[in-house]
Amino acid sequence: MTDTAALPASDQTLHDIAVIGAGPAGMTAALLLAKAGYGTVLVAPPANLDDGRTTALLSASADLYARLGLWETLAPLTAPLRRMRMIDGTDRLIRAPEVTFDSAELELDAFGYNILNKDLNRTLSEAADAASTLTRVEDTVSSYAFLEDHVVIRLASGGEIRARLCVAADGRRSPAREAAGISVKSWSYPQTAVVLNLAHDQPHNDTSNEFHTPTGPFTLVPLPGRMSSLVCVVSPEDAEPLRAMADEDLALELERRAHSILGKFRIASRPQSYPLSGLTANALAGHRLALIGEAAHVFPPIGAQGLNLGLRDVACLAGHLTPAGSPLADPGADALLKAYEKDRWQDITSRTAAVDALNRSLLTDFLPVQMMRSAGLYLADRLPALRRFLMKEGIAPGQRLKGLPLPFPKAPRLRFPAPKLPRLPR
Ligand SMILES: Cc1cc2nc3c(=O)[nH]c(=O)nc-3n(C[C@H](O)[C@H](O)[C@H](O)COP(=O)(O)OP(=O)(O)OC[C@H]3O[C@@H](n4cnc5c(N)ncnc54)[C@H](O)[C@@H]3O)c2cc1C
Repeated sequence: MTDTAALPASDQTLHDIAVIGAGPAGMTAALLLAKAGYGTVLVAPPANLDDGRTTALLSASADLYARLGLWETLAPLTAPLRRMRMIDGTDRLIRAPEVTFDSAELELDAFGYNILNKDLNRTLSEAADAASTLTRVEDTVSSYAFLEDHVVIRLASGGEIRARLCVAADGRRSPAREAAGISVKSWSYPQTAVVLNLAHDQPHNDTSNEFHTPTGPFTLVPLPGRMSSLVCVVSPEDAEPLRAMADEDLALELERRAHSILGKFRIASRPQSYPLSGLTANALAGHRLALIGEAAHVFPPIGAQGLNLGLRDVACLAGHLTPAGSPLADPGADALLKAYEKDRWQDITSRTAAVDALNRSLLTDFLPVQMMRSAGLYLADRLPALRRFLMKEGIAPGQRLKGLPLPFPKAPRLRFPAPKLPRLPR
């Protein structure tokens, strides 16, 4: 229900949960928490139906949408990602061998399912409108007051909403996080991701092709039919000329960079650009506040991790708020929020560090790091146990390395320091 008018400026209802933000993380959280029985209100401007990016939904994310009864609607809009090919696109002295990871080796149908963000957002937004237990308020939050037993959420339009728990899904700048005084570690990369969708002559055979170039990955990810999404990570100076090119010139230039592996390209959507940065919040919970999605963590688009990590936040928070067999508790109780934070900490910090190290290993000219990266890919190509471990870690974290005869290669030492990630708050 889109219900701005139904919530008067002096609304005194004490809602169980207010989710702030109608990005994919916020809409998924609101649907899940409302379905669990909490009186939930979703506060945000309308969902972004113009987002040119795509998301490869890993199997845990697909399971989450199945739980919400949405997978049947989403699945036909996705393309399965069955193989991932990594190609060294540098002309450096030490080059890595080409490695292909195949989901069949893990007896999986696919590593993930790639979908246009605008299709995902539209489906979630329609489901949120249709959910009878979810109240939707199309507005921006202007300020917060975190009181003893509830949060007062003041709207730009002048109204107020009260809730026992505020779930901040309000993106990387998160005004809710700031209002609660939660600090962040943030850093930036000398890189910009140019993203667009392409039609091509040759079939992609459900294979994602990732060229590692000296400025970052150039990744073609399957979409339904003879279409792929492209994430092309370049220096900020190179991004603007690419974005300004006419469609025909851009198609030729991108086909050249892709070594024509999918034949001729045709531009299907105008390029959008995203400067790359990283961020980790120093706490994932505050008084009557939980952070999810990019309000809690941001990192470069490598290995289809960002939103999948955000959806794991959602599943974990919902798990703590709805323990099997127990009645619904005060969702803003301190102990529940601390337990959520403790559960999510390891996954978030380890993913952030791994993606950061991978990205930096591409950027560095430092020969030992290049050798380390090449050796890692060489071993992955030769050792099925290591390859399976890497594939499992990519799609579901926390697997153990079994049956691998060699010690796992140590993380490379980098010439420029990696971000110091925060410790779990006590
Ligand atoms: C180039 C690129 C490619 C990517 N590819 C992948 C991929 O393949 N797989 C993957 O898992 N991840 C990927 N990611 C990451 C993924 O896109 C993000 O993690 C995801 O979009 C973040 O979603 P979110 O819901 O947390 O935040 P957002 O989508 O940023 O949503 C924030 C919401 O908060 C609202 N908001 C903000 N302020 C207020 C306020 N004051 N009041 C009310 N509402 C407010 C906004 O309007 C918006 O609705 C990629 C990222 C990039 C840059």
